[in-house]
Amino acid sequence: MNDFPRRIAILGSTGSIGRQTLDVVRCYPEHFRVIGLAARNNVALLAQQAREFGAQVIATTADDPAIQEMAAELLPGALHGVEGLIAVATHPEVDMVVVGTSGLVGIHPTLEAVRAGKTIALANKETLVMAGHLLTAEARRHNVAIYPVDSEHSAIWQCLRGERLSEVRRLILTASGGPFRDYPLERLAAVTAEQALAHPTWNMGPKVTIDSATLMNKGLEIIEAHWLFDIPYHKIEAVIHHESIVHSMVEFVDGSIKMQASLPNMHLPIQDALSYPWRLDSGGTGLIQELCWPEVGTLHFAAVDERRFPCFALAKEAGMRGGTYPSVLVSADEEAVTLFLAGRIGLVQIGELIDRVMQRHNSIAAPDLEDILGACAWARAVCNELATVVSH
Ligand code: MG
Repeated sequence: MNDFPRRIAILGSTGSIGRQTLDVVRCYPEHFRVIGLAARNNVALLAQQAREFGAQVIATTADDPAIQEMAAELLPGALHGVEGLIAVATHPEVDMVVVGTSGLVGIHPTLEAVRAGKTIALANKETLVMAGHLLTAEARRHNVAIYPVDSEHSAIWQCLRGERLSEVRRLILTASGGPFRDYPLERLAAVTAEQALAHPTWNMGPKVTIDSATLMNKGLEIIEAHWLFDIPYHKIEAVIHHESIVHSMVEFVDGSIKMQASLPNMHLPIQDALSYPWRLDSGGTGLIQELCWPEVGTLHFAAVDERRFPCFALAKEAGMRGGTYPSVLVSADEEAVTLFLAGRIGLVQIGELIDRVMQRHNSIAAPDLEDILGACAWARAVCNELATVVSH
């Protein structure tokens, strides 16, 4: 017996994860129903999605009055702001909430969805990195499952099925290494935003692309893995893997290693979370290409050089220290990447700035949502203050 059709809500439905989630839903109309949709600014696409999938509850978080006006016209009856997101995430007919929003806006609605007993398919990094202790405690309290929607965590999740956590020796996350994995160290300082945005395998937004180039992204994924799988930090590692075919691995105490492989494609981890514990036949959907091993040929792996990727080391440190350090890390990184993209600091200064902000921080243990938001605001301000000093 299965529990299809699953009734889903998508937070961030017009973003990359949201649109790809709807691609999957479109391929399996008998398995999924869209109940709720929420997006920020792209109200034209949101209205189109609402019509196509017959969504019952819709929300926008646009704060621009012109966009709000447009939303009122295109989406009569749509809800607004974080309250709107919460209404979508906790709608009584929803079974599963796909959290595809980026940044802080997803944290509160995700916690409310957990309290309402909804299964969470989580693509939002910040929620777990900053508030992993709150989210996992709330999920345990309400007996709610959190499914990862990310190639690396989906891979680990798939490798762990049927296994005992007590028999795991280590989790090994794979990292593409970004465009500068083999770049001469002394030339990293001169890298421009344009060069950094040319990412080899995955097509992502500028913030995620820079985080991939600095390996901040991988460091954040280590923190996420810690919370998702309840594995201590000293058992979580990363390895550079150029081809992005192996999406992560689990090594067990007997030395056996399981790895999950496929061509790089976000539809697969999304579909796996939507349909878990079942696998839906992707043949004929056109979404997921079959992998041909002879065509792949050779796979490469290399150690992560922490001198080249100081952001990776900083993220691990923030995770292990806990408290509000991960929130400070994420916020300082957001500011530093914005400064880099604007040409105000160099690539190597991203890590230097984050390091200096973290050194100044007085962490709060077991922070609540308010403490987390306070630490974020503090980190942004200090980061900009330090950057002004640096660029004068
Ligand atoms: Mg990833």
